[in-house]
Amino acid sequence: MSDLWKKYKKYMAAAGISIIVLLALTAFYVRYDYQQYCKEAVPILEYHGIGSADGWMKELFVSKETFETHLQYLHDNGYKMVSVKKMAEMFANGESTEKTIVMTFDDGYLDNYTNVLPLLKKYNATATFFVVHSKIGHYRYMTHDQIQSLIDNGMEIGSHTINHQILTDIDPQYLSWELATSRYFLKKDYNGYVVRSLSYPNGMYNSKILTAVKEYGYYWAVTGNAGTVSKKTMEQKPLELGRIYIDDSNINTFKERLRYSYWVGYLKERGVNIHFFKSL
Ligand SMILES: [Zn+2]
Repeated sequence: MSDLWKKYKKYMAAAGISIIVLLALTAFYVRYDYQQYCKEAVPILEYHGIGSADGWMKELFVSKETFETHLQYLHDNGYKMVSVKKMAEMFANGESTEKTIVMTFDDGYLDNYTNVLPLLKKYNATATFFVVHSKIGHYRYMTHDQIQSLIDNGMEIGSHTINHQILTDIDPQYLSWELATSRYFLKKDYNGYVVRSLSYPNGMYNSKILTAVKEYGYYWAVTGNAGTVSKKTMEQKPLELGRIYIDDSNINTFKERLRYSYWVGYLKERGVNIHFFKSL
């Protein structure tokens, strides 16, 4: 009986050690694989207004001071800050995308010109500005000339549709107006400027909208989904690029969001889609 017990104990110890070794090896491999993924993965940051909310929806505004801490952090950590178009070119040309990050600003607020442009120039960064065509020149939105100035400073202009209608809610016959006509108007307004990037209003889309977006000449579209962008994403799902929503939280939250998006991007790329992460 005691011999049997000894044998059993030995067997259990061996099994326990094997499991620990296996777990350690798996953890080691995942860590290595994750680091390899991070070398090419590109996070896309989603901003709206930079400055004071002044009675408008607070969640859409990041103060100038907070925004500069983000730029400072990225700059000091060797990140190259670029537009969606530039990132796409880097992937297509086989350039290294290590420590590359995309900056995007939705809605076309006036502060994108007054506050954002000077700060981007200070940190040698470029970005994509998604404008709502019907809002150009309205109170608290950029004027035609200010948008032209963004273009002249090397920034990318993308479409955020004509009226900011939620595309999944509107009658399909209006999709060509919101998607194709907004590209056409921007081309007409800005000396033949060719728009290839789109931001879905409120991040909403479905398979029919994806078909329309492709048909109307967009190459890349950003969503509100979490995750980072890899070469594989650009090849397989360029119209469903994930973004990280940035609000006025402190720099530690900013760093955490960045870290989480790399992990979500990594897990998605390896076929693990955790819905919990969607809201991040
Ligand atoms: Zn918007």
